[in-house]
This record gives sequence, C-alpha cells and structure tokens, in this order.
Amino acid sequence: MSLSHERSKLATVTDAVIVGAGPVGLFQVFELGLLGLRAELIDSLPIIGGQCIELYPDKPIYDIPAIPVCTARELIERLAEQIRPFNPGLHLGQEVTEVVPRADGRFDVATSRGLRFDAGAVIIAGGVGSFQPRRLNLEGAERHEGASLHYRVKDAAQFADQDLVILGGGDSALDWTLELVDKARSVVLIHRRAEFRAAPASVARMRALQEEGRLDFIEGQVQSLVEQDGRLSAVRVLSRDGVTRAVSLNQLLVFWGLHPKLGPIAQWGLELHRRNIVVDTARFQSSVPGIHAVGDINDYPGKKKLILSGFHETALAAFAVREQLRPGEKVHLQYTTTSPLLQKRLGVSAESAGEEDERRANVRLA
Ligand SMILES: Cc1cc2nc3c(=O)[nH]c(=O)nc-3n(C[C@H](O)[C@H](O)[C@H](O)COP(=O)(O)OP(=O)(O)OC[C@H]3O[C@@H](n4cnc5c(N)ncnc54)[C@H](O)[C@@H]3O)c2cc1C
Repeated sequence: MSLSHERSKLATVTDAVIVGAGPVGLFQVFELGLLGLRAELIDSLPIIGGQCIELYPDKPIYDIPAIPVCTARELIERLAEQIRPFNPGLHLGQEVTEVVPRADGRFDVATSRGLRFDAGAVIIAGGVGSFQPRRLNLEGAERHEGASLHYRVKDAAQFADQDLVILGGGDSALDWTLELVDKARSVVLIHRRAEFRAAPASVARMRALQEEGRLDFIEGQVQSLVEQDGRLSAVRVLSRDGVTRAVSLNQLLVFWGLHPKLGPIAQWGLELHRRNIVVDTARFQSSVPGIHAVGDINDYPGKKKLILSGFHETALAAFAVREQLRPGEKVHLQYTTTSPLLQKRLGVSAESAGEEDERRANVRLA
C-alpha cells in the first residue's frame, strides 16, 4: 500500500482545509458552504478570530459594509453565527505544518498535534502568519516547556496546590493570576514595570489581593532559571531595587504576548512576494494548483489588506474550488434571497431542494 493510501486511511476526508480562522478564514467557510462544500478550519490559536481577537478585540471597526460600527470581537461573533449552518470541523491550538500535493490532485494535510486531512483543496487564510507565544530566552528554558514551563494554560487543574510564578503585565497574565490565586498554593506575579497593559479592573483586583497578602508582586526581570535534580525549582529575579533574589516555584507561566510567524507556510513550495503568497485575481489560486490564498496573506497588484477585500476573495476562491472538485459541472451564481437550494443549505427554508434544483437553476441561468 502506498504512503498516500496509508495516510488517507487515517485522515479526515474533506472538500477543503482552511488554514487560519481569522475573519477571512471564517467567511471562507460560508462561501464554500453556499456551494455545497464542506470545510475543516484549523488555527494555531486556541480561539477563532485571528488579528481581530488577538490584537484589538474591543476596538471599533467602521468599514464593514452595512455595519456602521462594531467591535472586532462582535464582528467575529457575527461571523461565527453566520457560518453555523455549515458546521465546519474546527481544530484550534494547532498549526498546519504540512501540505503535500498528491498525484491524484488532492492534498495530504497534517497539523502539529498529529491530525491528518485528505483535502480536495487547501485555502490559506493565514493572515500575517501563525501567532506564537513570545518565549523565555534563557538557558535551559526549552527543556522545561510543557512540564514546568507554560506559555498557555490548557488545564487550570494542573496548577492546583502548586507554587506558581507568573510573568507578564497584559490581560492574559492578570486574568490567569486572578483565576489561579484560589487554586494554587502560592502565586508570585513578576512584571518589569509597575504599569500594566491589562484592564484596570484586573490590575485593581490584583493589587487588592496583594494588600491582603494572597499573592506577591515583584517589579523586576527574570535573569536565569534554577534547576534542582533536573527540575525547574526557582527563577532568579533582578528587582527594581537592584537586588537579585531567587523565587522558588513548581510551575512557571509566561504570558508575554504573541507574535506572528509565517512559519511552515514558507516551506510549502508556493511563490512568495515579500512573505505573501502570490495569487491570481480570478481564482485566488497560488502557484500550486488547488492551493488558494485569501485575506492578508496573499499578494496581487493593487492588494489592500482589509477585511472587506478578504471577504470578496473568499467568494471567488470558493467558486474556483467548486470547479476544481467537480470538473465539467458548471456553477452559476445564485442569490441567497431567491435560491431554494441556497436557503436549504443555510437551513432557512422549509422547502426541499436538492442537487436537482441546482441543476435546474443552472440550466435556467445558462
Ligand atoms: C490594530 C488593528 C486594527 C485594524 N483595523 C481594521 C479595520 O478597521 N478594518 C479592516 O478592514 N481591517 C483592519 N485591520 C486589519 C484586519 O484585522 C486584517 O485585514 C484581518 O484580520 C485579516 O484577516 P485574515 O483572516 O486574513 O488574517 P488574520 O486575522 O491574521 O488571521 C489569520 C489566522 O491564521 C492563523 N494561522 C496562520 N498560519 C497558520 C498555520 N500554519 N496553521 C494554523 N493557523 C495559522 C493565525 O493564527 C491567525 O489566527 C486592523 C488590524 C490591526 C492590527
């Protein structure tokens, strides 16, 4: 049995894999869904929303057609609601690491958590790249990652009755400090400045807990890690008063924010221009047939990195994927307002409509 057969046996078979669940990746699900295509959506972040949620969730957006103003978070909530009828497979907290074209025109896709997909097409909606946590750049840090050094919390229960040191001054650092203070044996929050980027209410709550002696706050910087019997046992901290002291711990949590990295996408053999994927403007297809790119990650003459542009691109990419997956079958434009088939796919029509209706609609429009 060939490797590709072996792989596809274990893989989820789907029409399309979408790399990236930012606003454009989400809307891509909708456009594929209208054309009767199923999608699996994968993102390295543990939540959907891409830049909107990661960088500016509470800021207002004014240039989404027909929505005079909404916050970035509201936009993502609305998109999530809009794609619900198409029920995409959602795989968060994992990076798409491999996209390998097969001889039969399909793709083997793999993620960092070992999921595999057998996809008819791949649509990359990777934005500015996959968001990665800013890591601790200290001797020995890598050895402890996942055991006693963490950049995200997968299961808060693992920190019960532990001595925690938390690094950071943003919302994640403060939110987890407040969440874990009741579960942990002790919590020390360390931030290089007395000013925080987190929500003022969270900072006030942390300060109150500090007053009550329920947690410690040190204004300072971690200089090195201390190990005992191969385990992380403390951090050496240079505090604002110029004194270096060891702070003992069982678990170290680092929340220094995220930064985007093009990452594995650069290895997939696609033509790039300034770290963006070169596409045509009819199909939004990359230099590899069957791999499309939409949203901030693509490049073509006149490209504007706006959500609005990304939405337009998803419609054309969806039509291209449909033609590619069902060659020879003409697909005509139908309106959601009037098409029983589209309304059935959207789950808003009681009427039964099937592929036959689509065939008839296509003939009428031809
Ligand atoms: C402060 C700020 C304000 C903005 N305001 C506006 C505005 O008012 N109007 C407007 O139109 N635009 C605005 N933008 C730009 C807008 O946010 C982007 O155009 C939009 O987010 C692009 O969407 P996207 O889905 O293409 O990419 P992104 O939102 O970047 O999402 C891409 C997703 O892909 C994931 N990803 C990448 N590589 C991989 C991989 N290998 N595996 C798994 N996942 C991967 C990433 O983790 C990310 O979640 C603003 C941007 C910023 C920073």
